[in-house]
Amino acid sequence: MISIKQVKKHSPLEYLYANTAHNFNNVFRILCERQTVKDSMKNDDTLNKNEEQWKQELTTEQYTVLRECETEPPFTGKYYKYDKKGTYHCAACDAKLFNSDTKYDSGSGWPSFYEAIDKEAIIEELDTSFDMRRIKLKCAECNSHLGHVFPDGPNGGLRYCVNSISLDFIKQESEKENK
Ligand SMILES: [Zn+2]
Repeated sequence: MISIKQVKKHSPLEYLYANTAHNFNNVFRILCERQTVKDSMKNDDTLNKNEEQWKQELTTEQYTVLRECETEPPFTGKYYKYDKKGTYHCAACDAKLFNSDTKYDSGSGWPSFYEAIDKEAIIEELDTSFDMRRIKLKCAECNSHLGHVFPDGPNGGLRYCVNSISLDFIKQESEKENK
């Protein structure tokens, strides 16, 4: 099995083009068209926090998903059936990630969005864990793990499949009050 460390030595683009899994390539093609996937692995935590600090700031459940890239069980999170108007922020650093207007019910048991609030807000990274090739989503601000992206979104687009525990919802009204 290829570890993430080994993959990082190469450009993800080179690596991906050498591998042919239809679904995977399909996600990748869409991401390339949107120019959101990075051609070099960015692993900087712009907040410069070490893992000890994250451990203190986050709950154990948040830490395992956000910093250790675990996935919460489907149909258990607080936002998979949530349909209020507002924005979803990173639970680790509060960066704005998704707008409720792009959220839809995918039936997967995880909150699903067809696009991010801004293509600079998230990092899409190769993930080869569990012998699969997937694209992992991370917060661009703090490098915390959010979920994965799949090619079965609405109208032939993408599905950003995000762990509820990686998100904090901010209602639209309170956003206006804060301005
Ligand atoms: Zn973040």
